[in-house]
Amino acid sequence: MTKLERLKAEARETATLRGHMLGRFKASVITPESGKGVERPAAVAYCDICAAFVVVDPDPPQGEPEIRGQAMDGDCHPIEGETHESA
Ligand SMILES: [Zn+2]
Repeated sequence: MTKLERLKAEARETATLRGHMLGRFKASVITPESGKGVERPAAVAYCDICAAFVVVDPDPPQGEPEIRGQAMDGDCHPIEGETHESA
């Protein structure tokens, strides 16, 4: 298993614990915001329920997480959820 595959599995596990249903990971590239360095390969997946995303970055800059995204930071909330359940 490559590092990217391991990170994908880890991201999926974390997202699932938060109630998300991640779709397939797709290959992507990350362009450094600083403008320094080169684009690097990454993988992105979206939750089928709330569309939160996860980015897997196998080679992040120092101090940056390898896995990040809305699906890691928050629980799943359907976009068109039932509003009358909160009462
Ligand atoms: Zn979700």
